[in-house]
Parts: sequence; C-alpha cells; structure tokens
Amino acid sequence: MPIISGEDFIRRIGAMKPTIWLNGQKVKERLPDHPEFNGILNSQRLLYDIQNKPELKDIMTFQSETTGDIIGTSYLIPRNKEDLVKRRHMIQTWAKETGGLMGRSPDYMNTALTAFASSAHLLEGKEGCFPERLQAFYENARQRDLSFTHTFINPQNNRSTLAYLDENTLNARIVDRTSEGIMVRGAKLLATQGGITDELLVFSTPSTRDISEAYMFSIPTDTKGLSFVCRQSFLTSQSSYNSPLASRLEEMDSIIIFDSVVVPWERVFIYDNPYAVSDLYRDSAFIPLNLHQAVSRQIIKLELLIGVAESLVRSLAIAEYHHVQEKIASMIKGLRTAQALLFYAEEKGEEQDGVYLPHRDTLYMAVNLFQEHYPKYTEMVQHLGASGMISIPSEEDFQSQMGNDLRYYLQANSLNGEERVALFRLAWELTMSSFGTRQTQFERFFFGDPVRVTQTIYQTYSFEEEMELVKKFLRDEEQ
Ligand SMILES: Cc1cc2nc3c(=O)[nH]c(=O)nc-3n(C[C@H](O)[C@H](O)[C@H](O)COP(=O)(O)OP(=O)(O)OC[C@H]3O[C@@H](n4cnc5c(N)ncnc54)[C@H](O)[C@@H]3O)c2cc1C
Repeated sequence: MPIISGEDFIRRIGAMKPTIWLNGQKVKERLPDHPEFNGILNSQRLLYDIQNKPELKDIMTFQSETTGDIIGTSYLIPRNKEDLVKRRHMIQTWAKETGGLMGRSPDYMNTALTAFASSAHLLEGKEGCFPERLQAFYENARQRDLSFTHTFINPQNNRSTLAYLDENTLNARIVDRTSEGIMVRGAKLLATQGGITDELLVFSTPSTRDISEAYMFSIPTDTKGLSFVCRQSFLTSQSSYNSPLASRLEEMDSIIIFDSVVVPWERVFIYDNPYAVSDLYRDSAFIPLNLHQAVSRQIIKLELLIGVAESLVRSLAIAEYHHVQEKIASMIKGLRTAQALLFYAEEKGEEQDGVYLPHRDTLYMAVNLFQEHYPKYTEMVQHLGASGMISIPSEEDFQSQMGNDLRYYLQANSLNGEERVALFRLAWELTMSSFGTRQTQFERFFFGDPVRVTQTIYQTYSFEEEMELVKKFLRDEEQ
C-alpha cells in the first residue's frame, strides 16, 4: 500500500474507539469531530496531504526496496549522507506547515521506529528480545503509513537514586506472561497526542533495573484496558484570529494507565531484559536520528520566533534601540548556530552497521543549547511586545460596535488595529499563553531533562585532542 492521504488518516483515526478521558468525561465523539481534537487532527491531515504532492515526491517519499511501494521519507533508513539530507528536507517541509510547533508531527515517532528497527541486530541472541518482530513491525508500519505516539517515562513519585528499592511502584510493569503475550499494569507518562494516533510505542526508561519494568512493545491506541487521561486543554478559542496557534496545534498530553493490558507476543520486542533496553537506547540509531529530527524542526520554530519578534519591532518602530537589536541578533545567532551544528553533524556523520548516522555529540549540543535558549527567546519577545502583549481584544470585540474605535486606536505603523492585534495575539499565544508556556516546557524537556543532557555531553566527550594539547606544553623543551 502506498503512502496515505490526509483523508485516509482522518478516516482511520475516526474509526478508532480509544478510551480517552477529558475534563472528567469519557470522550464519546468520533475524534475528528471532537472540538478539542479536530484542530490538531486537521493539521495532521494537511501534513499527509503534503506527502502526496507530486512536486514534493522526491523529498517526501522513497520507493520501498522490499515491496516497490511509495513510502514516506520519515520511514527512510539513511544509508548515506544524501539520504540524511533528504530526511532533513522532509522534516523541514513538514515543520514549515506547523511553524515547528507540532512536537509529534508524524516524522518524530516514525524516525524513532525506523531508528530502532535499523538497530534491531543489537537485540540478536539476547534473552527476551525479538529483533525479527521489531523489523517486521517496522515494515508493516511503513507499508500502512501508521502514526505513533510514545511513552517512556515513569510516574514522578520518586526520583531519588534509591527509587529502585521502592516496593510500591506505580510504574507500568509486566504482571503476567502467558501463551498469548505479556500483561501490563500500572502507569506511564507522558504521551503527547496520546489517544489520537494509530499506535502507542511503549519503552522502558533506559535506567530501569527491575526486569518486570524492562520492555518495548507497540499497541493500537484502542487496545482494551488502555486509558489516556488528558490534561486540561489549552484551546481557548476555535477562532483562528483569537487563537492562531492552539486552534490548529493544541496537541494535548496525556497520562497513560494500563489496566491489565494484554500485549500479544508479535508486538513484544523486548521483555524482562533491562540490559537490552539500555543497550538499545544508548547504542541504537535512536538518539542520533531523533536528535537530527528535533534540531531540523527547532530551526524552523526559531525562524518563526524571529519573524514574530522582528514584526513586533517593525510595528512598534523600535528598531533603532540598542537592546532591541541585541535581542533580535541573539536569536539570529542561535539560529545560525543551530544550522551550523546541524550541517556539521550531517557532514561528520558515519556509517554504522549500514546506517549513515549524523554526529551525535554535535546534535546533543544543539538540542541542549535550544533547551537553554528557547525560554530566553520567548522572554525577549515578551519584553519587545510590552503592553501590546496584553492589549489584545478578541475577534468578537472587532465585530462589535467598538470595532471601528479599536481599529483606529490600536493601529501601529502600517497596520490597522485589527491587523496589529492579530500579530500581537500570535506573539502572545507563542510566548505567554498556556499553549505558549507549554511549548517552552516541551522544548526544555521533550528530549530529556536538560540537566542530565548537559551531564551526558560532559561524560561522553572524549577530551583526547584537548589533553594532547596540554601535554605538549608540559613536555621538556629539549624533547
Ligand atoms: C510538554 C511535554 C511533552 C512530553 N511528551 C512526552 C511524550 O510524548 N512521550 C514521553 O515519553 N515523554 C514525554 N515527555 C516527558 C519528558 O521526556 C520528560 O519530561 C523528561 O524526560 C524529564 O523527565 P521528568 O519530567 O520525569 O522529570 P524528572 O526526572 O522527574 O525531573 C524533575 C526534576 O528533578 C531533577 N532530577 C531528577 N532526577 C535527577 C538526576 N538523576 N540528576 C539530576 N537532577 C535530577 C530534574 O533536573 C528536574 O528538575 C514530555 C514532557 C513535556 C514537558
């Protein structure tokens, strides 16, 4: 089967009957018709349609070497640098549609599954591991163009170093192994777009020590016993004037509860083996390829942020002030640094077991810098916009009898009041609303705790060249 269209995607998601809880109620409507989910599902639909555009065929698709079918590039295992660059073009084509604000555009998890499957040989001959099932699952997923979300994290009740001694674990764990499969009970965090994708990929945290918490599997979103409990929605208005971002891109995040969920064996890739879990996480293509996806997307997001910031500057005629120039320049420096790191990582990539992987340390640095800087950039936008970020009447106000007054008194530079408020609403939603602050928290944490990412950079850096240089100056001059 070739790539799906947006319509195929909506039909498939509409046919699912997952258990989703929102505001204390079980969601009963067909998901594409539900007011909280139709915006994001419609945005996903547009992404699948982009995949089908004939003029983008070379970027967005490739021909399967096994079936000859046309497959989405997000499922492409890069065999050389050209494949990796093609993957970047695909990621950024999709990211331009969403302003880089959709953390779980299909390419994120398709990349994860592709990366794990391309490293399935790491599971070869290990207890409780089924590399052939992982590869077959990947093949099936790409043939059907399935969409995924994932959950890796355990409930946050005990993060001390001795947490593994805690007998009252809340973590999802294997409670039975039968001829049918494994049975899982407990909870896991946090699934962005949980409940609104075809599949849920479940993976242990890599530091797992308990064998019953060491697994990797994938299940359909509407599997019996699986519940998604949504946070409060950040969609405040369906109007794209009032809410230019959340009305299209409120992805939702959910807590996942496994109530004796049976995972059939053909969907179990690892069980009861903590070493296999940590080896696959650490040594597979997952980290380099998913970091490559993340940095490619973040570049587009930063372009959007710079565009918004500079539009505020022009609308307020404040470009002459030194601190204003400094703020925009610091965002531009961040953008150019991210681009340079991404290109360097592609250039310095290496083939590993037939897969061309970008330079992992460089991408870790790019993501870590973004974790640090993105919150500062959003604060800069707040500073530039000042009270304009608050003087943002709604679409309804402009339609009322006060509309003409607002259009007149809120004008700025070449924009009438309604146009100017549209710009400031965009800036407010991006940086100050619940939607915007969630975006900031997402960029801080989605690829892991920034503190531990920084530690990883330090701990995995080789220091060889630097130490050699030091030695040179410690040698006796005569030598
Ligand atoms: C908006 C959003 C969307 C997300 N979407 C997903 C998703 O789709 N799927 C998914 O699986 N996950 C998702 N996550 C979870 C994300 O992966 C985690 O937030 C991240 O890995 C950090 O884990 P934690 O939140 O449990 O923080 P914790 O590990 O609980 O950290 C809490 C605090 O304790 C500190 N701390 C804890 N342990 C240590 C330590 N060993 N050393 C130093 N400091 C420590 C941290 O620095 C932090 O300040 C999402 C998170 C957010 C915010």
